[in-house]
Amino acid sequence: MNIFDRDIQYLKGIGEKRAKLYKRLSINTVNDLIHYYPRSYLDFSSVKNISETIPGEVCCIKATITEPARVSMVRRGMTLYKFKAADKTAVCGITFFNNKYITDMLKEGHTYYFYGKIGGSLFRRELTSPEFLSSSEDNSMQPVYPLTSGLSSRSIAAEVKLALSLCEENITDPLPDSIRRKYSLCHITYALQNIHFPKDKAALETARRRLIFEELLTLSLGMALLRHRNQSYDADPCKPADMNIFYDKLPFEPTGAQKRAIEDGLRDMAAQTPMNRLIEGDVGSGKTVVAAALCFNAAQNSLQSALMAPTEILAQQHFLTLSRLLSPCGISVGLLTGSTPAGERKKILKMLKTRELDVIVGTHALISQNVEFQKLGLVITDEQHRFGVGQRAALASKGRDPHVLVMSATPIPRTLGLIIYGDLDISILDEMPRGRQKVLTYCIDSSKRKRAFNFIKKYLSQGKQAFIVCPLVDDSDTGAQGLAAATAYFEKIKNEDFHDFRVGLLHGKMKPAEKESVMRAFSEGSLDLLVSTTVIEVGVDVPNAVIMVIENAERFGLSQLHQLRGRVGRGDEQSYCILISDANGKQSAGRLRTMCETNDGFKIAEQDLKLRGPGDFFGKRQHGLPELKIADLTNDMQLLRMAKAAADSIISKDPMLKLPEHAGLRAQTEAMFSKEDIAFN
Ligand code: ADP
Ligand code: MG
Repeated sequence: MNIFDRDIQYLKGIGEKRAKLYKRLSINTVNDLIHYYPRSYLDFSSVKNISETIPGEVCCIKATITEPARVSMVRRGMTLYKFKAADKTAVCGITFFNNKYITDMLKEGHTYYFYGKIGGSLFRRELTSPEFLSSSEDNSMQPVYPLTSGLSSRSIAAEVKLALSLCEENITDPLPDSIRRKYSLCHITYALQNIHFPKDKAALETARRRLIFEELLTLSLGMALLRHRNQSYDADPCKPADMNIFYDKLPFEPTGAQKRAIEDGLRDMAAQTPMNRLIEGDVGSGKTVVAAALCFNAAQNSLQSALMAPTEILAQQHFLTLSRLLSPCGISVGLLTGSTPAGERKKILKMLKTRELDVIVGTHALISQNVEFQKLGLVITDEQHRFGVGQRAALASKGRDPHVLVMSATPIPRTLGLIIYGDLDISILDEMPRGRQKVLTYCIDSSKRKRAFNFIKKYLSQGKQAFIVCPLVDDSDTGAQGLAAATAYFEKIKNEDFHDFRVGLLHGKMKPAEKESVMRAFSEGSLDLLVSTTVIEVGVDVPNAVIMVIENAERFGLSQLHQLRGRVGRGDEQSYCILISDANGKQSAGRLRTMCETNDGFKIAEQDLKLRGPGDFFGKRQHGLPELKIADLTNDMQLLRMAKAAADSIISKDPMLKLPEHAGLRAQTEAMFSKEDIAFN
């Protein structure tokens, strides 16, 4: 057995107990340990004179303890240990709490490196509970590892050091020499050594760059293999249906972009390899019609279709839309979610097995084990960034190599798109349905709320509908003051301003059945005004709704505001979005101005990325990709581009990574994706 695959107990000093703690961090083997990267570093290497330090800064000083510790009990259970330390420039007080071993560790007359945040004042500097090293120790940068109780950073560092020293000679670099040379990347041995124990800042940067590149390359290769795997499958080719039958029954003329996307889909589905396509289009561009058209195509070829949506409300909505578009063509549509009653569920499962149902719409419930199809030929996921690549694969596995369509409204920067959707072909709906007007957007402060309400009332009296979105369900959620909380807000306006109207409430803490009935009431027009939290963000489609009011608008991200605004302006009526905000910061004003100026989702996403910084743009793991250890998909853009190019060139030469020089990369890719339950064969 090679040392990398050995259990970490193989390392001297790690027994059963420590191994258990490591297990909690998913570290089982020596290899796992050496790839467990520090979260940050204590930089003991740049030492400052005490007189040059400034209160508030984090730094390292090298100082000698000048007198014995003074120990005092400030109150029961709280003992202070105060030291004085000095270098040749000044004195610094050093304090520890409740650390009875500290007097053994810091000795009068001895010199140490202390690392921490300088407190006190320029005249009386203080360090409280600093990290320290004896001056005889190696004062390079010290790794700080993400912790679990019982494993200190120091002990992890020591064990990593041991592991590295044992296997250093045997590490083979998964990156072929040619790639390393082409992109000026350091060897893996150097990278591992310096990611844990950097010689200096430059060495750390070199190591990081290499490891990030490697991770992004692995990710890109995995996506490419996925694509290749799909291509090697054996789909049921569909003879392109006569789409005029479908178009004739549509209540409107499809846009050119919709027709093109449908044509792309028909062409894909006619092939022996399964379709694997992303439909990307701004909110309101009409993606559902494309989905319906391809379900129609599948049904004409005696194949069933399944559409999976991320929320119950959205599934419900799609069910209504698809029924409306497809039943006139004689195609049956069903709905299956977590809240479908048992009896109904049983009936639907049976109808799926016998193909009495052509199309099923649902939530994650569709992936559950007992859902079986007679012949599933087309799988569609909506808002795919909320599903993992694994979940998409799970639904697809219900059929024998079905065609796959993914719909997304989130405009993402192109390079990222190539990675995230790297295994997909893309059709873009870049044309809005005709007659669609720009949603006029205004930003007001709460002193003008009454006027906005009067404006809404005027429209409600004419039979139109409106939304009011509030950030939270009730005040107890945050304790934050002044936030319009949906429940209280609803009670108030229902009884005051809007007592002549039918007002409904929708929020995420309601039971699915309650949500559904409120949503249905609103889309049937038996409610005039809907007060809601952001649960309506995704996909709700009520063309008769013409006004969207967003309270505390500064609390939302730009892309989220854009999604919310997309709930109106879906018919041919002029629609309005009113952003209410009392925030007077420069930045929030700028953001809200962007909303008033443009309706273009791509521009807004770009601006959002700029203003909020990439970390916030995608929620953690919202993209549904395997977890990354060191790379950041939005920060490491340049490396991402390089890694993608490298992956493309590798795959063009060796599509299955079968060449011996790619064995390491292949193993790495398999390991990364196996965590998502995806295997390449
Ligand atoms: P999204 O791309 O946001 O999912 P939808 O598919 O929900 O958009 O469509 C938005 C609205 O536009 C729906 O009310 C739909 O009926 C309508 N619609 C879609 N295509 C057209 C079209 N070609 N002409 C007019 N209205 C359309
Ligand atoms: Mg939609």
